[in-house]
Amino acid sequence: MATVQTVLGPVGADALGVVDAHEHVFLSSPALPGEHFDDPERMAAELELVAGSGIGTVVDLTTVGLGRRPAELAEISRRSGVQVVLATGYHRDAHYAADHWVHREQAEILLDVLLTDLRTGIDGRDWRGPVPKPTAVRAGVVKVGASYQRMTAGERRRIEVGVEAARLTGVGIAAHCEIGTMAAEILDLAEAGGLTADRVALAHLDRNPDPGLHGELAARGAYLIYDTVGRIKYRPDSDLIALVDRLVNDGHADRLLLGTDVGRRTMLRAYGGGPGMDVLGRDFLPRLRRHAGDEPVDRITRANPARFLATKDVP
Ligand SMILES: [Zn+2]
Repeated sequence: MATVQTVLGPVGADALGVVDAHEHVFLSSPALPGEHFDDPERMAAELELVAGSGIGTVVDLTTVGLGRRPAELAEISRRSGVQVVLATGYHRDAHYAADHWVHREQAEILLDVLLTDLRTGIDGRDWRGPVPKPTAVRAGVVKVGASYQRMTAGERRRIEVGVEAARLTGVGIAAHCEIGTMAAEILDLAEAGGLTADRVALAHLDRNPDPGLHGELAARGAYLIYDTVGRIKYRPDSDLIALVDRLVNDGHADRLLLGTDVGRRTMLRAYGGGPGMDVLGRDFLPRLRRHAGDEPVDRITRANPARFLATKDVP
């Protein structure tokens, strides 16, 4: 039976429950000054809210060097009962300081880091050096990213490395598409590197809520992650419900994933902010069920993530 690699080990793909496909449990990025969250006690409390909202599994798309704490994450997962699939991979340029090693190391070193995370275990110091602290907590998905409307040479190189790591290990790739851009270009790179489109999930597509574009990407076979649930400053959730509706009616229900992507401490209940990581299960999914019925919601939150996250056999 197909399995999914969580921070507590492999689980059956049919045992994920309702999945939040884009979160961060610990995050520290130079692109988000003052917004880091790294406190295990607070984040355990946040994940307990998530558990109470009916979510069974969250996908933590934090990349190499941005504050992953694999040992603490495993402990929080155990305590809260929320299963966590943790990423490896490299983000877009803005998330790394100019002197970070990701900008200068050779591709084979960049690939070795990802393969260690996926096959052996993530460095307990998240590769911030100088001495690694191996853990047995393995990554279960690869994250890549590009800038708004463009892909720098470094981003392209790191996306190619991420694609190769996914191809060699059978896990899927989640792509950060800044404000919904560069999705087709990242998908092209993934296919050129030997992945089929159904191994790629394009994140933040709802920042550019263009149903025609989304339909084209879904028709190619890629997953689309709508992950700005509860972000009223972008648009009301009613717009997001209408977008889901449109894609479902156009025949793409089996290509959609949902998430919250609370990437700032001011968005977390445990730090006194909002809407909280539990906004998906607490507010949005009940509303979507009332509007669209159970069938598409179960497909989007259970069947699709189980299919995407299941590790494929590598020939
Ligand atoms: Zn994110």
